[in-house]
Amino acid sequence: MKAICVRETGAPDVMRLEELDKPVVSVESVLIKVSAAGVNPVDTYIRSGNYGSISLPYTPGMDAAGVVEEVGSGVTQFKPGDRVYTAGGQTGSYAEYMLCQQTQVHCLPENITFRQGAGVHVPYATAYHALFHKAGASPGERVLIHGASGGVGTAATQIAKAFGLEVTGTAGTEKGLELVQEQGARYTYDHTEDGYLDKAVEEATGGNGFDIILEMLANVNLDRDLDVVAKNGRIVVIGSRGPVEIDPRKAMGKNAAIIGMTIMNASEKETKSIHAALGAGLTNGTLNPFTDRAFPLDAAAQAHEAIMEPGSFGQIVLIPDWG
Ligand code: NAP
Repeated sequence: MKAICVRETGAPDVMRLEELDKPVVSVESVLIKVSAAGVNPVDTYIRSGNYGSISLPYTPGMDAAGVVEEVGSGVTQFKPGDRVYTAGGQTGSYAEYMLCQQTQVHCLPENITFRQGAGVHVPYATAYHALFHKAGASPGERVLIHGASGGVGTAATQIAKAFGLEVTGTAGTEKGLELVQEQGARYTYDHTEDGYLDKAVEEATGGNGFDIILEMLANVNLDRDLDVVAKNGRIVVIGSRGPVEIDPRKAMGKNAAIIGMTIMNASEKETKSIHAALGAGLTNGTLNPFTDRAFPLDAAAQAHEAIMEPGSFGQIVLIPDWG
């Protein structure tokens, strides 16, 4: 099969399209013919060698959508021909075929395209886990999605809006701000403008602060988040690209919590509830993954460069052309 192969970690061009052996199903596994693969920032950290150890060579990617090709004898939930999306796999998603355990596979409703399905797992599961399992969100609360124009931010905006939270979202471009508004934010602010947080906390909360902040770039924003979080507020650190100095007194004075998370740490029970909720939201149309940019599989390197550039606009996907 055709697949992206990384033989040494490094710059995006270490990803090469190669001819590899097709994975072989075992008792509990599902082989999926990939129609679209999701590109997430974590894929770039792993490829560059800055995210723990990885055994080489490997094929990148955790998220895909496609059709079940073959199942192991112990698989009861899926059959060949089923439309599915993946939440991780035993092999990578930047490939013609991806091998997954059956617990990593979820039904893709008919109304959701494969391209959209490739943008479900990391963005939506992260957003759901942050809002409900970490921040304990309740309808009526005010949430600041600090970085709402990318994969996780657009997912979080849709989920929060559907749940009855009042959403304020930030982006760094005019196009990004429009997208965030279209996804359901009541207030939007440009995080490249001076004083935007002071304006946001006044206009969107009457100076009371945000009950929840989902933070995509904590190394830049965490100390300022403590200025705009409400009393008993929760700041969930989803993304951070370096260290930051904060004044802990700001958290003390407000009984505020700073909660770190990684979706890989979600428990089996949490994971089950996340995908049950996402399945319901995708089926009833409240969740509608936004994927603007698609690259062919042999342009995986360009996709990795694009996802690290400013000016996010939803999720980036790879669409293979199997001819
Ligand atoms: P993405 O699609 O690249 O989006 C990045 C977002 O951050 C965009 O909205 C971008 O806005 C925004 N941003 C840029 N500068 C900012 C600033 N100064 N303040 C606030 N926001 C800013 O990435 P993603 O997939 O949404 O992921 C977001 C972050 O979460 C990444 O660091 C990723 O590694 C991390 N993440 C963590 C988990 C986890 O389990 N903890 C899971 C998924 C992702 P503009 O481009 O419009 O400026």
